[in-house]
Amino acid sequence: MIDLRSDTLTRPDEEMRRAMASAEVGDDVFGEDPTVRRLEELGAEKVGQPAGLFVPSGTMGNQIALHLLGRPGDVVLCESLSHILHYEMGAMAALSGLLPRPLDGERGLLDLETVNAAIETDVPYKSRTTVLALENSANLAGGSVYEPATLRRLATGARERGLGVHLDGARIFNAAVACGVGAPELGACADTVMFCLSKGLGAPVGSLLCSSPERIQEARRFRRLLGGGMRQVGVLAAAGIVALERGTDPLELDHEHARRLAETLAGLPGFVPAACETNIVVAEVPSPPWGRDGVPPSVAFLEALAARDLAGVPLDAKRVRFVTHRDVSPEEIDSACEILRRVGG
Ligand SMILES: *Cc1c(COP(=O)(O)O)cnc(C)c1O
Repeated sequence: MIDLRSDTLTRPDEEMRRAMASAEVGDDVFGEDPTVRRLEELGAEKVGQPAGLFVPSGTMGNQIALHLLGRPGDVVLCESLSHILHYEMGAMAALSGLLPRPLDGERGLLDLETVNAAIETDVPYKSRTTVLALENSANLAGGSVYEPATLRRLATGARERGLGVHLDGARIFNAAVACGVGAPELGACADTVMFCLSKGLGAPVGSLLCSSPERIQEARRFRRLLGGGMRQVGVLAAAGIVALERGTDPLELDHEHARRLAETLAGLPGFVPAACETNIVVAEVPSPPWGRDGVPPSVAFLEALAARDLAGVPLDAKRVRFVTHRDVSPEEIDSACEILRRVGG
């Protein structure tokens, strides 16, 4: 099976497993795991923030950030396709009493005018807008990325209005590679930044939440409240260090692979791929011919692909998503393109 369902599927390679096996560890709830500390320092530096916290998942990192930036009853502005809205179990409401206000952007990306128009801070009978959550790259929209200048303008503008800015940078390194800047440049303009080690970077588990030392101290407390205080977790952090030290060059190949898939889809009759900027390819499946009673077009197309050993995921009734990653070789991408042409052509 050529598995393009997600870049979370990457498995730790030999180098990582060796680092995991030999990691120096201690009890991290006591702050005594040297490998975790090293990862937290290194990770924060990579996204232009002074301090970091290792968390078991990106979802936990996002939710700790939102919890610290807003108070119960406050409004969080986010794009209508954002991960925090669709894939985090309503956690901002469930855990922090926060109210998401989805805004429609362009390819999953917001602009300052839209954000400014939505901010309400001093209407005595309305919820206060206190948080802006940005996602870069924007997953559900097809891995689109903010122009660095736009991102900076948005974050600065929102902060000037008194909002806290969280950056869901699950794939911030993909975004950085796509626009040819360093990730510190993208991360520095936000108050809090989350990124995943477990996706394109290839580590088996974990994400980092990065921010000021004061906020990270508070974040550590809330992580504990959520049951996320981990003990000799240096065995996992060691894999994260390998992932970060490898740098972002390997991601360029993933982007090249995604472009080839998008071009192939664009050549199939009726298929409409979204612009491909990073390692995610999203396309609308034509109906007809795809889809029949009770089976949406996206699912029907994926079933036909699975029969030929190619896997993606449906995003909704019409759209399918493929994600390239380091465990997929150039030859497998050749085969994937061939399967797409056979099935969809
Ligand atoms: C994957 C992802 C997350 C975090 O997911 P976890 O599965 O909780 O690690 C957050 N935001 C975006 C945009 C993602 O793609």
